[in-house]
Amino acid sequence: MPPIRNRAAVPEQLGFAGMPERLFVCTPSKLGAYLDCPRRYRYSYVDRPSPPKGPPWAHNSLGASVHTAMKNWYALPVERRERDAVPKLLKSTWVREGYRDVELERAAYKRALGWLDTYTATLDPADEPLGVERVVAAKTSVLALNGRADRIDGRMGEEGPEAVIVDYKTGRTGLDADDARGSHALALYAYAAQRVFRRPCYRVELHHLPTGTVAAHEHTEESLARQVRRAEETAADIMAAEKAVAAGGDADEAFPTNPGSLCAWCDFRKSCPAGAGVTGKEPWAAVEHLGADS
Ligand code: SF4
Repeated sequence: MPPIRNRAAVPEQLGFAGMPERLFVCTPSKLGAYLDCPRRYRYSYVDRPSPPKGPPWAHNSLGASVHTAMKNWYALPVERRERDAVPKLLKSTWVREGYRDVELERAAYKRALGWLDTYTATLDPADEPLGVERVVAAKTSVLALNGRADRIDGRMGEEGPEAVIVDYKTGRTGLDADDARGSHALALYAYAAQRVFRRPCYRVELHHLPTGTVAAHEHTEESLARQVRRAEETAADIMAAEKAVAAGGDADEAFPTNPGSLCAWCDFRKSCPAGAGVTGKEPWAAVEHLGADS
């Protein structure tokens, strides 16, 4: 196996006094990975080659299948956005990886079909979102932020047209307004969408397809600014860790482990000293209930 090298050990740009710092290019999920566990961030984004990952997760396959089916729903001409279209959409985008067996995979497929059937029935086929799986980007003095929002709706607010961030969720448990309020990713999408679409974007919504519920939060200019500041602070921490490694520091110290409940779900558990002793979840653990309840 070729030796692992740290990308951070290779300076990408020389700095000069008075020269602005290079912007930190990131997505909300990259920042979230560091907040969850700096070591996992290092394994994902710094070490090259990355340590080997565990097998694919069934819940990721399920989420990807449903998200792509929703994307393709909006790609259909308006007159074909009917409930009859759903089975074909899901079948053509179905990802099979990670399930324990065909029986569990079939149960998950059946369940996903039901979610999509119920959810699409609530949509007005004539609605054209501002964006579907749309990349939005924005710069601050520290960040070059970009990310792909599941859907960005154009709606009429009290003071005129506005943009609304919509994120589909397929996990077991329902979500509430606190989840919508606390989501850094949704806030950063809203911040970027305001700039891309040049219209207000304060409302963020989590659409939980298994329960058909919507958890929403209305941000303010201040709350978005707070989330951006927090993202900038995280970026500053990451850049400081990368600089420490580039200056010859210990990469394990610069990117410490953060052992906890996430270790059992971590792709890099077998490469990590803190995770190696943890019993990992089976790849289908998060969707097993779909088989039991069907
Ligand atoms: S196993 Fe745990 S401590 Fe190790 S990288 Fe993964 S989440 Fe971090």
